[in-house]
Amino acid sequence: MGLIDEIGERLDALVRDLESSLQGARSDDDVRARAARIVGKKGELTALEKRIREVPPEDRRELGRRINEAKARADRIVEARLAALRAEARRRELEGPALDVTLPGRPRRIGSLHPVRQCEEELLDALQALGFEVADGPEIETTAFNFWKLGFAPDHPATCMQDSFYLRDDVLLRTHTSPIQVREMLSHPPPVRIAAPGTVYRRDDDVTHSPMFHQIEGLLVDEDVTFADMKGILTLFVRRVFGPDTPVRLRPSYFPFTEPSGEIDIGCLICSGRKVGCRVCKGTGWLEVGGCGMVHPVVFENVGYDPERFSGFAFGMGVDRIAMLRFGIGDIRLLYENDVRFLRQF
Ligand SMILES: [Zn+2]
Repeated sequence: MGLIDEIGERLDALVRDLESSLQGARSDDDVRARAARIVGKKGELTALEKRIREVPPEDRRELGRRINEAKARADRIVEARLAALRAEARRRELEGPALDVTLPGRPRRIGSLHPVRQCEEELLDALQALGFEVADGPEIETTAFNFWKLGFAPDHPATCMQDSFYLRDDVLLRTHTSPIQVREMLSHPPPVRIAAPGTVYRRDDDVTHSPMFHQIEGLLVDEDVTFADMKGILTLFVRRVFGPDTPVRLRPSYFPFTEPSGEIDIGCLICSGRKVGCRVCKGTGWLEVGGCGMVHPVVFENVGYDPERFSGFAFGMGVDRIAMLRFGIGDIRLLYENDVRFLRQF
């Protein structure tokens, strides 16, 4: 008997060994482990394959054919055994006890609204209850809508490259939600009564400032709208959000797009006006929650409204700041780290 037949017989024997060995395998892993002993990298059949160098050159082609055939048979045997195990498992499952529907289900973790989103919804609810309609606008704005039509002077610090994120000379990430007011007035004749929520961007990053934050603004324009109307609406709005007895006051301030302008303060939510030792209001008893003012006639002229006939007011708040006050959060960055242990508390 030549070497080629001797190796050929050994191949047949290995395939038979594999077949009988796999009959005892009880799992997929077991099948693969047993198969590896024969056809794996360090298996016996693989070792035999290396002996091809020992046969005369004219017989190598024939031996190669036999080796490939043995390998193909081995593969078929492994696949057949795996299929048989799967069929067996299915049969056992069908014959076994029925599904126990009384077992408790696997709970799915349900997310919750982010504290900023919760506050935004509350603020919008309060404004909608007062008759304001929600308006939207793009986060990428032109300097015309973000600054110039709102009456910003070219040398106003906010228009500077160091304070805002410019994409081009005349395009930037909006620095406030006020361009929504411009867009609304340009596309609708008065009366206007909108609430404009949205994400805004400024080059700021510390404990109380984030480069991305959220604002909500209100705008009301009609005939005969007065400062008293503004104070009345603002008081109703703030008390809907912070509670019916919340003290509200306005302080003089400056914005390019309103005249006169004011800051909106509410009685401190933490010390309720007791002041002494309160870190949140720094002992003043008041917390600043936003800005407001009567729409500047220049803005009306820029959007084609007659400033002699129409008047109105606008106000805005930082939603993140409200959320921080509301939930007693000391560092604005916590809101954007997406740490579930933090978010789960709200
Ligand atoms: Zn206080």
